[in-house]
Amino acid sequence: MMKNRWPAAYQVIEKLEHAGFDAYVVGGAVRDFIRGVPANDVDVTTNATPNEVKQLFEHTIDVGIEHGTVLVVVKESIEVTTFRSEDTYSDYRRPDNVMFVRSLQEDLQRRDFTMNAMALTKKDELIDYFDGSSDIQKKLIRAVGDPNKRFSEDALRMLRAIRFSAQLDFSLHVNTLEAIEMQHKLIGRVSLERVKVELEKIWASDHVGKGMYLFETSMLAINFPGDWKTYLDKWNRFLMFENVANGWAFFALMQQSNDINNLLNFYKCSNAEKMHVKQVLLAVEKLKKGLWTTYDLFQFKEEVLLSAANYAQIILDMHTSYEKDDILRLKAAIPISCSKEIAINGNELMEWKQEKRGPWIKEVLEKLTIAIVNGKVENERAHIKEWFFHEYDN
Ligand code: ATP
Ligand code: MG
Repeated sequence: MMKNRWPAAYQVIEKLEHAGFDAYVVGGAVRDFIRGVPANDVDVTTNATPNEVKQLFEHTIDVGIEHGTVLVVVKESIEVTTFRSEDTYSDYRRPDNVMFVRSLQEDLQRRDFTMNAMALTKKDELIDYFDGSSDIQKKLIRAVGDPNKRFSEDALRMLRAIRFSAQLDFSLHVNTLEAIEMQHKLIGRVSLERVKVELEKIWASDHVGKGMYLFETSMLAINFPGDWKTYLDKWNRFLMFENVANGWAFFALMQQSNDINNLLNFYKCSNAEKMHVKQVLLAVEKLKKGLWTTYDLFQFKEEVLLSAANYAQIILDMHTSYEKDDILRLKAAIPISCSKEIAINGNELMEWKQEKRGPWIKEVLEKLTIAIVNGKVENERAHIKEWFFHEYDN
């Protein structure tokens, strides 16, 4: 029963009903309930207006009051949204007007896919005007109403369809797919931040190949460039290793794009993401020339090496012998794991050489790092001093 499954949502619905309103769980939680899997978050829809909701609950937060959404904080935070329909769309994304409506059916009708357009009462009675649960049995993603119209109202829905197919391993209903083929150019008008979010959800999904195939066919051109079976297979082997920036590295390698900066700037990747991608690509480049040197193994972070070795194997069909254990073992065998661990610093160098601070210190420290990493000098003060006077005979 809902009371045990989603106690916070149950509590919110009960209170709204007690005050004379209607309230239901809607959207993703109902879909996941029908699929028999736990829900990410549980949203409630009601005919109470945002102000009525706010009056009823002690602790609320305005998260999107212009869209009719109030966050109600009970045991957990529950998003409560007033029944609404959407008017005209002039920017292919946001409706120009949000209209509150009094019927649940109108609210469900504005939702994107049949599987997302169901409601559940607190007694677990399913309200399903568009056969969402039968589409779920058939593993189908089907737009509510005329898909062409729905996608031209909001082009993001096309990307959502693709992302859901990768997450759930569902197919696109033929009319929905055809509409994406018809309307795909409108995806170009979706803000790149939103595209990025959807892409990253695809990369984190269980069926990456499916999502990327659909993504590329709908974003770029309907005729898929190259051999799509190989493409699908490679993306299906993609592992994200808990760093979403890995998706961009893999993407760049798959596209054999030389202009990685352009790609990363285009999608407004953060500096940390750009840095990670560049490191992975650099490590792959080094691998193309042969095994990594001890210094490479020292310089690149473990997660960079891990991704680079794995992606080189998948994308470039390179038979690298670097598994996680190898990388850990090789890294552990290096006397230092970062230059901070060097037994001396610039002060000692200045003292030994009787010279003022300057760029020379950095140069010596770099050389010293290489020598220690390669086992030429022991990381110990006396040994380093000896090395220094030998190298810099002064
Ligand atoms: P997830 O498990 O990924 O959160 P979700 O279905 O809950 O999936 P949300 O983005 O949280 O997805 O949206 C909640 C609900 O709002 C959806 O189930 C759908 O009914 C509706 N919705 C969201 N975005 C759109 C959209 N662009 N057009 C129409 N309806 C939408
Ligand atoms: Mg959700």
